[in-house]
Amino acid sequence: MSRLDSFINRMSAQRDILNHVRDHYPLPPEGPIFEIGLGNGRTYSHLRECFPDRRIVAFDRKLAAHASSAPAPQDFVEGEIRETGQSFVKGTAALVHADIGTGYDDKDAVTLTWLPDMVAGMLATGGIAVSGLPLDHAGLEPLPRVETIREGRYFHYRRR
Ligand code: SAM
Repeated sequence: MSRLDSFINRMSAQRDILNHVRDHYPLPPEGPIFEIGLGNGRTYSHLRECFPDRRIVAFDRKLAAHASSAPAPQDFVEGEIRETGQSFVKGTAALVHADIGTGYDDKDAVTLTWLPDMVAGMLATGGIAVSGLPLDHAGLEPLPRVETIREGRYFHYRRR
């Protein structure tokens, strides 16, 4: 598969899985959404559309989002998520979306030494995790694959 096809697959998987969560998994009534890896702000913008009443806190090394999808300063956390995320490990989030895979297995393996624990720790019971990297964690129950998303492309879980 070309990298262009792979990119298109990732984009449509993100849209389909976020819509699926919106339509099929009622989130805990309270609690923010965390966007782990704001990037250009495309999925942040989609989250805002899907969940207009939620506070969304976004994390990244640097603010580089398109101006139309830049969070308010109080909703953006700058720095290395491995460190900045620690103070959000409070079991309060209703939804965490993590899009920090790189496509390099060695780099992603390092991320996977801390990301599953962090996401599980951020979520309230019944909260939902959506991730481009698999989050293998006893506290996260894998949810059935979305029909339009190829096996292993994008993942979602419910916090036990
Ligand atoms: N979902 C975003 C969108 O729709 O525009 C794209 C996210 S992009 C693939 C990943 C982002 O995560 C990059 O902007 C990168 O700087 C950030 N990132 C990756 N690993 C990080 C880390 N360990 N700490 C902070 N930021 C990180």
